[in-house]
Amino acid sequence: MPYTYDDQNIFAKILRGEIPSSMVVETEHSFAFNDISEQAPHHVLVIPKGAYVCYDHFAAQATDAEIVDYTRTIGAVCKQLGLEPGAGGAGYRLIANSGAHAVQEVPHLHVHILGGRPLGRMLQQV
Ligand code: AMP
Repeated sequence: MPYTYDDQNIFAKILRGEIPSSMVVETEHSFAFNDISEQAPHHVLVIPKGAYVCYDHFAAQATDAEIVDYTRTIGAVCKQLGLEPGAGGAGYRLIANSGAHAVQEVPHLHVHILGGRPLGRMLQQV
């Protein structure tokens, strides 16, 4: 089933400048800003400017230029925050919640970059 993008979601409003955000980086195709409810000392959300609901939607429909820009922007934010393990940083976690089981709250693709403290195991043990 094809995705239907809701242009009234909160990240679409941030991209249109209708509500404020704490910008970290902006590029031609991507936008990064601090999460309003940070779960770690560093908690940045990176979104594509295009209308993509979640990661697989983006992977299937985005242009090569958008994908390259988005991937590089995520890396650039990790570098800007000093989190890169290869440069002496303590590391980070990327999360892209998609759909119901992942409890995606905002239906516009976003990758969470989390770091600045030990983050524990990947998933809660059930
Ligand atoms: P998810 O559960 O992966 O969809 O995460 C959505 C994230 O968006 C949550 O971590 C929220 O804290 C964050 N969020 C919601 N509204 C805003 C906002 N206006 N500015 C920044 N982050 C937001």
